[in-house]
Amino acid sequence: MDLALPGDGHPARAAFRAWLAEHPRPTPRQIADAGYVAPHWPRPWGLEADPVAQLVIDDEMRRAGVRRPSNQIGIGWAGPTLVHAGTEAQKRRYLPPLLAGEEIWCQLFSEPGAGSDLAGLSTRAVRDGEEWVVSGQKVWTSYAHVAALGILLARTDPGAPKHQGISYFICPMDAPGVTVRPIVDMTGDHAFNEVFLDDVRLPADSLVGEVDKGWALAKVTLGNERVSLSGEGALWGQGPTAADLLSLVRGAGGVRDAVLRQQLVRVWAEGEVLRLIRLRTVSAAVAGRPPGPEASVRKALADDHGQRVMEAATTLAGAYGLLADGGPAEGLARRADGAGRAPGEGVPAGGWPAAVWSRGYLFSRALTIGGGTAEVQRNIIAERVLGLPHDVDLEAGRPWSEGRGAPPA
Ligand SMILES: Cc1cc2nc3c(=O)[nH]c(=O)nc-3n(C[C@H](O)[C@H](O)[C@H](O)COP(=O)(O)OP(=O)(O)OC[C@H]3O[C@@H](n4cnc5c(N)ncnc54)[C@H](O)[C@@H]3O)c2cc1C
Repeated sequence: MDLALPGDGHPARAAFRAWLAEHPRPTPRQIADAGYVAPHWPRPWGLEADPVAQLVIDDEMRRAGVRRPSNQIGIGWAGPTLVHAGTEAQKRRYLPPLLAGEEIWCQLFSEPGAGSDLAGLSTRAVRDGEEWVVSGQKVWTSYAHVAALGILLARTDPGAPKHQGISYFICPMDAPGVTVRPIVDMTGDHAFNEVFLDDVRLPADSLVGEVDKGWALAKVTLGNERVSLSGEGALWGQGPTAADLLSLVRGAGGVRDAVLRQQLVRVWAEGEVLRLIRLRTVSAAVAGRPPGPEASVRKALADDHGQRVMEAATTLAGAYGLLADGGPAEGLARRADGAGRAPGEGVPAGGWPAAVWSRGYLFSRALTIGGGTAEVQRNIIAERVLGLPHDVDLEAGRPWSEGRGAPPA
């Protein structure tokens, strides 16, 4: 496996540098229009970049300090579904502002009675002339309070078998009948919401794909969701890594406590394994091979790992871990057993504000719930990777891996 990135000779480097010379301080819309927000998407939205070109572009953007617009659900999983199944008119209307982060998207999938068992959803959409009338309740809807648009699953044929008779819509969040009620989570943040849909009228062209065939598209969305959540940071690909924590400890002169040292070595080793799994996936893609079992296993490993990184950081923080702005650097600076540095001596913060670690510890509980729970991931690994017998959903009489965590067809 050759892991070195191509150097200056790669055409994507030259193209990016030439573009940057013309746009030294690019706006989000300019980055989007140039295809650099999602380079692997087809033209004109992306650049049809292969995995190596993508990595090269990422590298160039990092060096130049050019940041992609932020629109996690839009760019990460609503957009790819529209690219896959949207009409040309839908793509032209929705993709440019989505890529530029001008219209934020949310995901109206989970319901009070349908999370892992997403196909059990009960929100209804009934055709009325040139419109669909939607009624129901969604929950855990991240960013609904700031979103302009949502991808919405609703049942259009209540008589059909569970995984059929579901359709996939685009819902403007300011449509009459949409009520967004905040849920504040234990980090103190308001990211989630409940969303009530009371006779919301959607024009016929809000339907994505075919009527009653939305489950296949939901699987495309969920597959992209899992990939989007698998970057390098410990919190669904965001935030600090185990290596960041280790460099912070090194900056403090190390720790002597044997149990703590073991805890740190474990998260470091896990972080390295996950990094290599990620590179192996990229390497397989470059060689034209489909993602292997490692892609399915990665989320399960990365979610547990993220929790352990944050637990180690909180242990290092000691009593400071009880504070909203107390992180491992504060704890290390005051540890009597800090090797090579006297208690109370300053410790470099390691590039992340203390609050990122304390908030990260609380947020890390969500890792094994969202985007397919730990148990659902393990069902998939058991059935699809290890070939063990199916865990049957008795109500639907189908394998459980047809639920929230199922990979795209
Ligand atoms: C941070 C975060 C953000 C989220 N954002 C969104 C969003 O924007 N939009 C959206 O639609 N949803 C969102 N969700 C919801 C998320 O997808 C659901 O929470 C998740 O699918 C689990 O569903 P549930 O909470 O209803 O739990 P349930 O499905 O009720 O599960 C409860 C427990 O039972 C276990 N369980 C269920 N079925 C099985 C089985 N067959 N075998 C073994 N164990 C099982 C689960 O693993 C879990 O431990 C978000 C969740 C989180 C944590």
